[in-house]
Amino acid sequence: MSNQKVIVVGAGVIGCATAYLLARHGFAVTVIEAEPGPGLMTSYANGAQLSYSYVEPLASPATLKKLPSLLLDPQSPLRFRVTGEWAQIVWGFKFIRACTQAHVKFATKALLGLSFLSRNELELAIERDRLSFDYSQPGKLVIYNTPEAIEVAKKQMEFQRTLGCQQTLLSTHECLEREPALENYQSYMAGGVWTPGDAVGDAKKLCDDLVRHSTRMGATFRYLSNVENFIVQRDRIQAAVLESGERLEADYFVLASGNGAASLGKKLGLSLPVYPLKGYSLSLTLRAPAKAPQVSVTDLRRKIVYACLGNKLRVAGMAELVGYDWSVSEKKLQFLMQCTEETFPGACDFHTDIAPWVGLRPVTPTSLPMIGPARFTNFLLNVGHGSLGFTLALGSARLIVAYLNKQTALIAQQGWSFKP
Ligand SMILES: Cc1cc2nc3c(=O)[nH]c(=O)nc-3n(C[C@H](O)[C@H](O)[C@H](O)COP(=O)(O)OP(=O)(O)OC[C@H]3O[C@@H](n4cnc5c(N)ncnc54)[C@H](O)[C@@H]3O)c2cc1C
Repeated sequence: MSNQKVIVVGAGVIGCATAYLLARHGFAVTVIEAEPGPGLMTSYANGAQLSYSYVEPLASPATLKKLPSLLLDPQSPLRFRVTGEWAQIVWGFKFIRACTQAHVKFATKALLGLSFLSRNELELAIERDRLSFDYSQPGKLVIYNTPEAIEVAKKQMEFQRTLGCQQTLLSTHECLEREPALENYQSYMAGGVWTPGDAVGDAKKLCDDLVRHSTRMGATFRYLSNVENFIVQRDRIQAAVLESGERLEADYFVLASGNGAASLGKKLGLSLPVYPLKGYSLSLTLRAPAKAPQVSVTDLRRKIVYACLGNKLRVAGMAELVGYDWSVSEKKLQFLMQCTEETFPGACDFHTDIAPWVGLRPVTPTSLPMIGPARFTNFLLNVGHGSLGFTLALGSARLIVAYLNKQTALIAQQGWSFKP
């Protein structure tokens, strides 16, 4: 056990998970968060998927091939708008450079290792602290609309099987046996991949629960506190400086600031390629639960995920590289509602509060988060989790503990090699 002081910047799902595991391992943790509470930014109303077996990076030869048509199609879930920011240009070049088969294999392997570690850590935490965040393990069905898409999925599935994933290829008929609520959508389906172990939950509620248990273990959370800079002494960070001018000293500093990583990193001379990828979600009240999916469903054609959380259906989608743009497009909300009604007709009530939400995924060009020591002897990054932050949160936090406790065997076993 240690009683060393650690400051964590950011109380999204990554910062909350980091604080929780650090507190459990005996560190004296203070979390600094700019918002009035935990999980109010990208971790607020995401797709709810604990998608342990779907970690394939976005950068791939298949994405590169489809990129022109995806970007020109007005119905495309992917969108790109030139913002003129240097960060966006650099991110774009690095993304294209990562679109190789070798990268897909390397990143899939690294991310699967991290997601399995996350699953273990989350299951341990659920058991130990009875976390309650609408968690369930219904399994995940990814549906594809063309035989070509099925072929690509089959190859990826076979590769992932060599890495310990248990997935099954299903015909359309078998998909409907798994999820009868897809009955009206079968003309758009060519088959699917079924993963029994995948789970769903509410990321914001997980943040709240992690804060509650971290606090019980001695952690402190300071809200409405913006870290503006750091005081550096030679190769160490001495203190975090808040907007108010207050200086907070600690033995270690962990950056878990999501989309705030690039700007804070810059102040420390680090160029962190974390850029926002905008997405939308709705939390729809169920009108006819029997018509809603019982398993978690991903419609790959439209890149939309569906998950039942209590009496709500969480629907999330879109991936837009449009900068730090929080505006809500009415057209996109209408599109998500139309897709939901087409896929699960009669399941949802669109007349009560649809809880529209916009979030910016903090993505790296390679889809690999940046976890580990960076530049200073007492500074660690835990940022850039992109589309998988909820899934990877506990594993990423466990790696931070491993770095601080010098558990080199765990780090080596994960095969996690990160160079900022
Ligand atoms: C539409 C959508 C659907 C998604 N679906 C899924 C899904 O199904 N499964 C999944 O695993 N992931 C999903 N994700 C991704 C996931 O939500 C993110 O990866 C995750 O929330 C990132 O967490 P974070 O803690 O890094 O960032 P955040 O939640 O944004 O937290 C970072 C925090 O740092 C704070 N901060 C920043 N700078 C400072 C500063 N200088 N001082 C103090 N505080 C600071 C911010 O206020 C913020 O609260 C989805 C994302 C979107 C947008």
